[in-house]
Amino acid sequence: MKSIPKIFLKSIVLLLVLCILTGCSRQPVSYTATDIAMGTVLNQTVYTTGEDETGNITELVRSLERDTLSWRVSDSEIAGLNASQAGIPMSLSEELWEDLLLLQEVSKQSGGAFDFTLGTLTGLWNIDAQAQSDHEEIRIPTEEEIARALENSGYDKVLLKDGCITLEGGIQLDLGAAGKGIACDRIGDYLKGTNITGAVISVGGSVITYGGKPDGSPWQVGIVNPEDTSRLLGTFSLTGEWYISTSGDYERYIEVDGIRYHHILDPTSGYPAQSNLRSVTVIAKSGALSDALSTACFVLGQEEGMALAAYFNAETVFVDKEGNLYLSEGIKDIFRQTAE
Ligand code: ADP
Ligand code: MG
Repeated sequence: MKSIPKIFLKSIVLLLVLCILTGCSRQPVSYTATDIAMGTVLNQTVYTTGEDETGNITELVRSLERDTLSWRVSDSEIAGLNASQAGIPMSLSEELWEDLLLLQEVSKQSGGAFDFTLGTLTGLWNIDAQAQSDHEEIRIPTEEEIARALENSGYDKVLLKDGCITLEGGIQLDLGAAGKGIACDRIGDYLKGTNITGAVISVGGSVITYGGKPDGSPWQVGIVNPEDTSRLLGTFSLTGEWYISTSGDYERYIEVDGIRYHHILDPTSGYPAQSNLRSVTVIAKSGALSDALSTACFVLGQEEGMALAAYFNAETVFVDKEGNLYLSEGIKDIFRQTAE
């Protein structure tokens, strides 16, 4: 047999050396970051063969809030729609159009338990601001105020057609119940165009897992214990791209005369939802869906909520006031309860 010419051998060795030096067999490096964005904590653990992208991801979430979702920032897309004249079709950015179509579907399927047109009612309660501030005097709205706010809400008073939205008079959009999940969706889209090989990123109560860890072990995503938020009730083991959102009565609330008024409102009554639940966690293939469903399920309660999530192929964990856990069938194998 003829021996391999020396010149070929030399070039192979040279190629190998170059490959090692230029990093073509580079192992992913991990970066972590904790920032405030969208009025909540943004936590990132990212594995990449490229640059540290955590700063870009933080900016992505902040700009989503500033330019699109916030009803407080006057030049955001939502604030613009809320200030627009009723009855006139307004064109939407492509991404917001897609999000609103999904949110309207969740509103419909949940019978309005989730409703993205509650801006007047949530503004009236103003629980987020009241819960954060020591200075503002706590005030519970009157029944008349609540009734009036409910008259000015309803997902069926919104028309989505040909990339445009038309609002009936008095309607104010509030995407607060899906905003953090939408942020996770945008992060997921962004990650696909980078050298990031794996990430777990949380925006408040919404989490995205993406890709894998270098050692191949699954991501661990915990559920907070509503009785003691410094502890976990249990953890999910997940691999690949998933979106997990939790809604709970312990997140933002005010207490008046021993009664807890939390930030998830029942659009039927106009008051904080009374469904005997402490929290609902939803796992789905989209962040907007998992976030909207976690709110809807909290309002609907365990039985109806579980059926709604199943309709959207999402998995759920319900925690009731007695501390009981209810898991949907599809996640029983990937959930591990914390030992007492
Ligand atoms: P968090 O914002 O703490 O993650 P949620 O995702 O459950 O919690 O969203 C709660 C927010 O959504 C409220 O602060 C309010 O702005 C809005 N909201 C409250 N009740 C509803 C509801 N039934 N449907 C849609 N949005 C709601
Ligand atoms: Mg939600």
